[in-house]
Amino acid sequence: MNIFFYRWCKITAISDQSKSLNSALTAELSHAIHAYCCYHLQKNLMKLHSEDKIHKLFWQITKAQSKSQFEEHLETIQKLHTAAADYLQKIPSQYWSKHAIPGSQYGHHISNIAESLNFSWLNIQNLSILAVLQDIWNSMMKKFYIQANYSFKNAILTDYIYDYSKAQWKKSWHYHTIHSNKHTALIFMNSQSNSQSNSQQYTVNLITKSCSCMKFQNIHISCQHAIAAIAAICKLNMWSMILFMKSIL
Ligand SMILES: [Zn+2]
Repeated sequence: MNIFFYRWCKITAISDQSKSLNSALTAELSHAIHAYCCYHLQKNLMKLHSEDKIHKLFWQITKAQSKSQFEEHLETIQKLHTAAADYLQKIPSQYWSKHAIPGSQYGHHISNIAESLNFSWLNIQNLSILAVLQDIWNSMMKKFYIQANYSFKNAILTDYIYDYSKAQWKKSWHYHTIHSNKHTALIFMNSQSNSQSNSQQYTVNLITKSCSCMKFQNIHISCQHAIAAIAAICKLNMWSMILFMKSIL
């Protein structure tokens, strides 16, 4: 099981459909959200129907940005294989599809972080409990020391957020913005940047820190559409933007 924290009050736990986790979260972390590991769901689904098309559609459903997108993909699966669609319909969408999960997944759909951690402790599993705790303590202190002395590219942001924001900033140049007030905007792609006439539009709200692409609220870092909105509404340059983004995280 993976647990992701954000400023103490927003917690998401990802499990392999653990029934007991709901009651444990209700008792101990009533504000936490329970999501299901999509890798395990996919494995069960593939037992019913192993075709690549279903596999691809399943991952599209997990990332559906709206209920209509979710239903559209599910209908396609229904036409290809009724049993596969029935299996998915039995699992409440608020546990596994991005549009319905009532919180952030922080970019994670599967519980592989827990597996990675288990693997990293593989060679200490046979030690006594005190030796295991000592080893975990030592390895964590080593990681904290390395992190504390690491020279980041930016004084405020981690390298991941810095690189991600820079890439999103460049992508934001391709968008036009119409803003109705100081915090909401409609974002759409420049006609020169998009050969398709039916260019997708996104709605950004800087107060709720959300975008209809779902990435802004999901990982709590401004997406390319939010950056386009911030640039248009607040007229900021890149460095002011990075500071602004930091302030609204
Ligand atoms: Zn967006």
